[in-house]
Amino acid sequence: MLNVIMIGPQGSGKGTQSELLSERLGLPMVSVGQLLRAETDRQTGLGREIDRYLKSGELVPSDIIRHVIKDRLGDQDTDQGVVLDGYPRTVEQAETLDEIMTGLNRHVTHAIYLDISDETAVNRISGRRVCSNHRCGLNYHATLNPPKREGVCDSCGHALTVREDDNPEAIRQRLSLFHEKSQPLADYYERRGILHRFDGNKEIADVSRDILGILRDR
Ligand code: AMP
Repeated sequence: MLNVIMIGPQGSGKGTQSELLSERLGLPMVSVGQLLRAETDRQTGLGREIDRYLKSGELVPSDIIRHVIKDRLGDQDTDQGVVLDGYPRTVEQAETLDEIMTGLNRHVTHAIYLDISDETAVNRISGRRVCSNHRCGLNYHATLNPPKREGVCDSCGHALTVREDDNPEAIRQRLSLFHEKSQPLADYYERRGILHRFDGNKEIADVSRDILGILRDR
């Protein structure tokens, strides 16, 4: 069983690589950002609270995330494994994930770390487009990973948009949060011997091949 988590700054290609891995390995991809954005669509009290964090680029409080993730990992389609995009983002969340996984008789098998410079990250994010249908939420890039028809999602046909938190101020905030809170995750998984680092500056297909190489050798 493969339970893979993806670690990397915004713009490192985490979402795109998660989508590719999910497709190639036949495992569901669980994107926390996508689950949160879907919750904001429902216009519930919780959705409105989440929306405030998303707009500012701050991390959503851990108890909300725990609830969302625990619920999703309880779904039957994750029984055979999962690709987790955007969770955990802090060591505290990694500990919570361990608890949730243990409760389900599973464990994290691989932590994939995508390394890129802040400069590349900002350049990539400025070209990012996402599917406006939050249940689909596929990622594209205006030039590096364009859809087949301009402005339209290949998978569900909804319009592509620029994410509200992909503005310079929120991007800076998210990158600084990554360095402060998410980089320590690398040590956490390295100590366990399941951290695998990849050069995220390479082209999408090359990074994907590198990652699949180690997953297939498992
Ligand atoms: P992403 O789509 O992964 O870039 O996430 C978008 C936003 O969702 C982040 O800027 C946070 O506000 C929130 N978010 C996603 N994952 C987490 C997490 N693990 N913990 C807290 N907030 C999160």
